[in-house]
Amino acid sequence: MSTVNITKDTNSQTSQTSQTEKIPVGSMVELRSVTKTYANNSYALLNVSVNIKKGEFVFVTGPSGSGKSTFLKLLYGQELPTQGEVIIDDVNVEKLRGDRLSMLRRRIGIVFQDYKLIPQRTVSENITFVLQAQGYTKKEIQRRLEPTLKLVGLLSKADRFPDQLSGGEQQRVSIARAIIATPPLILADEPTGNLDPDNSWQVIQILQKLNSFGATVIVTTHDEQLVRKCNHPVIQVKNGKLYRK
Ligand code: ADP
Repeated sequence: MSTVNITKDTNSQTSQTSQTEKIPVGSMVELRSVTKTYANNSYALLNVSVNIKKGEFVFVTGPSGSGKSTFLKLLYGQELPTQGEVIIDDVNVEKLRGDRLSMLRRRIGIVFQDYKLIPQRTVSENITFVLQAQGYTKKEIQRRLEPTLKLVGLLSKADRFPDQLSGGEQQRVSIARAIIATPPLILADEPTGNLDPDNSWQVIQILQKLNSFGATVIVTTHDEQLVRKCNHPVIQVKNGKLYRK
């Protein structure tokens, strides 16, 4: 079995000790012979298999229209495979319905290119409304909010509204919303697509920090400079196939 070194950090949201341990890791994501075609006969993926281990940080690259978003949508169950199986943390996504699919989605934090913030809600409200909907107590929400705001560097802007923030700040709110429930899997679909290089780098650094706390992180991008700067494994999507580099 393969292993990964995870340095546990006392300040992290997910760990208690401060040691470097060798922890055996299994798969977080597995695609088994997956094909995804759409109704108009366009295809995104053709008989692809891939395995992403727990604790990995992986970039998914490829030109526009190559199937990067479809790949992520299959992971959180927004799309189902036309053929093959999508397994997340040992669970076949296709077999999940209703509550069980909601439970899986609660364990996945999703970040979108266009932030998807609610304009009439403050930063704090945008970050916490999902937890409220999921029945977390006020006390638990408060306990999580401050460290999450700190992690994304927005503690001083908690009461602002989205239109009072820069694009980079808005994206950091959307990351905070995705991670406040400490999901073990974080999916980011072109999270830097609307950002300049400095803000893009900030976003990637936050995602890397979450990865250092133990989260598995999958980021789609077509920013090759950013990919080169980071030295993480890359899955390239091309002509319906996945190539792992
Ligand atoms: P990317 O994220 O790399 O830009 P997508 O996953 O969005 O690529 O799209 C891959 C292919 O699937 C494209 O040819 C696209 O037109 C097609 N596609 C994506 N979503 C749909 C849909 N809902 N209906 C029909 N075709 C779609």
